[in-house]
Amino acid sequence: MAAYERQRILLRFADLVEKHNDELAALETWDNGKPYEQAVNVEVPMFARLMRYYAGWADKIHGMTIPADGPFHVQTLHEPIGVCGQIIPWNFPLLMYAWKVGPALACGNTVVIKTAEQTPLSALYVTRLLHEAGLPPGALNVISGFGPTAGAALCRHMDVDKLAFTGSTETGKLILELSAKSNLKPVTLELGGKSPFIVCEDADIDSAVEMAHFALFFNQGQCCCAGSRTYVHEKVYDEFVEKAKARALKRSVGDPFKQGIEQGPQVDSEQFQKILRYIRSGVDSGATLETGGDQFGEKGYYIKPTVFSNVQDDMLIAQDEIFGPVQSILKYKTLDEVIKRANKSAYGLAAGIFTHNLDTANTLMRALRVGTVWINSFDTFDAAIPFGGYKQSGQGREKGEYSLKNYLQVKAVVTPVKNPAW
Ligand code: NAD
Repeated sequence: MAAYERQRILLRFADLVEKHNDELAALETWDNGKPYEQAVNVEVPMFARLMRYYAGWADKIHGMTIPADGPFHVQTLHEPIGVCGQIIPWNFPLLMYAWKVGPALACGNTVVIKTAEQTPLSALYVTRLLHEAGLPPGALNVISGFGPTAGAALCRHMDVDKLAFTGSTETGKLILELSAKSNLKPVTLELGGKSPFIVCEDADIDSAVEMAHFALFFNQGQCCCAGSRTYVHEKVYDEFVEKAKARALKRSVGDPFKQGIEQGPQVDSEQFQKILRYIRSGVDSGATLETGGDQFGEKGYYIKPTVFSNVQDDMLIAQDEIFGPVQSILKYKTLDEVIKRANKSAYGLAAGIFTHNLDTANTLMRALRVGTVWINSFDTFDAAIPFGGYKQSGQGREKGEYSLKNYLQVKAVVTPVKNPAW
């Protein structure tokens, strides 16, 4: 299909998504439990924005001509890889679909996408809109299924040319293995994280508290890049802990369809139980439970916004991805020390820095081994900004121009030039 035609389909798709904004947001809340206001005002509009962004790229993908030694005309063709297998998680079902499907289609590939077993609805609905926008039958198929069966079948399939996965690091490793044992299809991975959020002594404490709260509690704490190790300088530590606790106590938890609700239930019983186990381990290992610590109410998978202080680096709650509304606050003294501690993690997805000192920001920004650094901000997810992990947080980048090369093959074409004067 001509690039221009792919562009038009993606643009029409974005328009249809906007038209169906409310239904899509409702499905997302039903499936996942996230606040409807978040889905309707942020996530679905962002989906449309992502599609327009990738539509913009569709007719701007081209190769190069390269000067070679000798009488040769050398050019590169940027070709689609072919059939892309994509596996997405349950925490942002629509956005994960957009991050993966957008670049794959813009580059001219076809897609088989497997949704998470907890959240199958919105992808089915949105795919109907994609076909309404003009995508030919068969160019994108959705599989609702379980990981070890449907997901693994996709990964080991000999006719799948590329894999893209978002989920846990553990499953990411399995996916690489399945690719290696089948046809060595290239794999991009967006995996777990344990992102440091560093509050320096000069930071504006009220805004740092608010941003650190958002960095951790957003989406019920179910974010791969959640700021789940809050490092606070000793000079401002006590004030920060007091205010972080007060903010958590103010967080509105309840029916995600109600207005003004900041936090809905966790996605399922398994996650709910796992988070409660981590909270118990925090208490048992000697961290101070400032607030929260158990179920909110008596019905549903709601968890009280939980804040731990006096957390030490070797505690499980400071090392594992909890994926829940549990903030861990750690104290530090010097910049060198916090750099070493922040980097001492198997993960390297993101980091937050709170400071007004340019030298401190520059030092931290370069020293942290992570794929994204947010300075005096967090969770800014513009379509054009690349996202991905260092270390065991993943391979490759999604969003932005960087994402395109995951979905393209480069073919070098060499032609002798007969003219000896060349
Ligand atoms: P998961 O990695 O098991 O699931 C993610 C996706 O992978 C789902 O679509 C699932 O069906 C699929 N999958 C599972 N096993 C597979 C296999 N053997 N082959 C192919 N596909 C497979 O994650 P989960 O069980 O839903 O959650 C477990 C933990 O993962 C969470 O507690 C959290 O720490 C982490 N997680 C991270 C992200 C992220 O965005 N980084 C998202 C969801 C979960």
